[in-house]
Amino acid sequence: MASTRLFVNDTLGSGIELQLGREQAHYLGRVLRLRDGDLLTVFNGDDGEFDARVASLGKNIATVVVDAPVETATESALKIHLVQGISRGERMDFVVQKATELGVKRITPVFTEYGLVKLDQARAAKRNDHWQSVAISACEQSGRIRPPLIDAPVDLNSWLGEGAKETDSDLILHPGASTPLSSIAAPVTKVCLLIGPEGGFSDKEYEDADIAGFAAVSLGPRILRTETAALTAIAVAQSCWGDLRDK
Ligand code: SAH
Repeated sequence: MASTRLFVNDTLGSGIELQLGREQAHYLGRVLRLRDGDLLTVFNGDDGEFDARVASLGKNIATVVVDAPVETATESALKIHLVQGISRGERMDFVVQKATELGVKRITPVFTEYGLVKLDQARAAKRNDHWQSVAISACEQSGRIRPPLIDAPVDLNSWLGEGAKETDSDLILHPGASTPLSSIAAPVTKVCLLIGPEGGFSDKEYEDADIAGFAAVSLGPRILRTETAALTAIAVAQSCWGDLRDK
């Protein structure tokens, strides 16, 4: 596999010529210093990953010819849905990046009672675009072909009120819960992990989650920061039931 992996917003198939705009032409030509004829791989999240070749590189436009599909096994069979209390700037970016590397399929950012971040609609949409680009870069780096779905930020209580979550195990991470995450029965294919922001969840939120069918689970005796808790929970899930397990 060529070492450059590029996410493109086009339909992919063998023989297709892609016309890339200024930003990607700059990235290939100036940042990576590729030349005509150099090889790369391209992916779009729907059609998988393909070998490709640079056909021409200009300042404002680049043409890349798509070649054969590449077999990849980087998508996790365990479908992890992370519902993350929105934390401050860099922490949230860190969670989105690392969750993508660890194979998470869907991220729902939620506003919670003790969350410190408030966003109006316009800023929420901007943050969402930003998280999407963080996830795409993490895919390019980690060999994933499908970026996780990142939902628009939503209030936790309305999200909980929406009803069935279509997962096998709905779990809320609660410091002090008596059940360790690693001890629950293996989910068949899908697990939902609900993680609090810096300030944690309120008692009311734990109650609402309980009513919505979320079981409280723990990650050991220490209180972890929100980003540590998210990554630890994902790593535990992948090592108990997913692709960090011995095959
Ligand atoms: N003062 C807060 C701490 C929040 S830590 C409190 O006492 O709840 C941020 C989030 O990380 C928590 O809401 C929880 O979802 C998760 N978390 C941190 N440490 C944890 C642990 N040991 N077990 C389970 N979840 C944990």
